[in-house]
Amino acid sequence: MAIVVQKYGGTSVGTIDKIKNVAKRVAKRKKSGDEIVVVVSAMGKTTDILMGMAEEISQNPDRRELDMLMSTGEQVSISLLSIALKELGYDCISLTGLQAGIQTEGSHTKARITDIEIENVRKHVTEEKIVVVAGFQGVDEKGNITTLGRGGSDTTAVALAAKLNSVCEIYTDVDGIYTVDPRLFSTAKKLDYISYEEMVEMASLGADVMETRSIEIAQRFNVPIYVALSTEEWPGTYIKEFDDSMESKVITGLSVSDDDIMITINHVPYGARNISKIFQSLALNDINVDMISQTAPFNGYINISFTAPQRDKFLIDGVLEEIKADLVGIEVDVEEDITKLSVVGIGMKSQSGVAANMFKIFADNDIEFKQVTTSEIRISYTINTNDKEKAVVAVAREFNL
Ligand code: ASP
Ligand code: MG
Repeated sequence: MAIVVQKYGGTSVGTIDKIKNVAKRVAKRKKSGDEIVVVVSAMGKTTDILMGMAEEISQNPDRRELDMLMSTGEQVSISLLSIALKELGYDCISLTGLQAGIQTEGSHTKARITDIEIENVRKHVTEEKIVVVAGFQGVDEKGNITTLGRGGSDTTAVALAAKLNSVCEIYTDVDGIYTVDPRLFSTAKKLDYISYEEMVEMASLGADVMETRSIEIAQRFNVPIYVALSTEEWPGTYIKEFDDSMESKVITGLSVSDDDIMITINHVPYGARNISKIFQSLALNDINVDMISQTAPFNGYINISFTAPQRDKFLIDGVLEEIKADLVGIEVDVEEDITKLSVVGIGMKSQSGVAANMFKIFADNDIEFKQVTTSEIRISYTINTNDKEKAVVAVAREFNL
């Protein structure tokens, strides 16, 4: 008897019919002999709708209350799925994050799982019940309901699988991980396998199939993940440790994200202390800064640019005001129409020339970039969103993605 954690995303449980369908799939799997823990997201766009309601009342809604509000979405889907499973004659139980023992720390709406007291889930599994757990939510040390950040149901699923020593299957509305988002490049190829390392980069850089932190957890605890369609039996993509059986191309994928803004702070007095102040304030507000670039000091001043999530704009504006008050004479520029474009591939570790190749593609296609940053397995550029389509096609063709 193997335990399987299956996760169904919002679109897959978006209507009552879809919930009934998921129930049938889960039931079939249970019948085949596996023990199943199912994690579900809120139905369709529920989380957005709930947030929208709060925003109708306040521009900056209290975050504890937002968590209380948003967590209700998942509570609807776990109960409906359980009702559907019982209707099919299967013994099952729905559990909220609290009931499933999911403990978190960190700020509201961006909490992190610290541990899972798995006994309750395990007990129900041992009793042969299908256990249906609410994704995206947990409870902090004070007993407050927390949520794990948008897309956090993936994290719930992978963390449960890590704790149960099981595999994790992510069922969604796409049939796997593609080299490039097929909406941007229609001939993009589906990958049979991708390594954790590459997937972490792809996810954090905009491939929105899975949430980044979930892959980091999978990598840390070596949880095998399978991403596939929730509606049909159709081969998906395995995410696992890199091994020699996986074809290693130089570039595995291209990620594109419009979710960031680029902030440039000009005329900062040169000195580590000033830079540190800026990034401390951002960190204190849990703002996840990504691409950072700085000019060399000139006449005692530097310019610094970084990207950060558009959805944190309100928090970022607050931090920028603080910084302006503190570092008199600086100038701040915020660019919203930027796109982050990144090529990712384990093959880059041993092959040179990718950067040169990319610069040539940009030059040949008249694409200007504003920033470039690199890691061992990726190179990222910020470009004008206007140039996005052109850039994606040119890069994807060049690397045969
Ligand atoms: N319902 C939450 C969201 O929309 C969590 C998830 O779907 O993973 O972000
Ligand atoms: Mg998701």
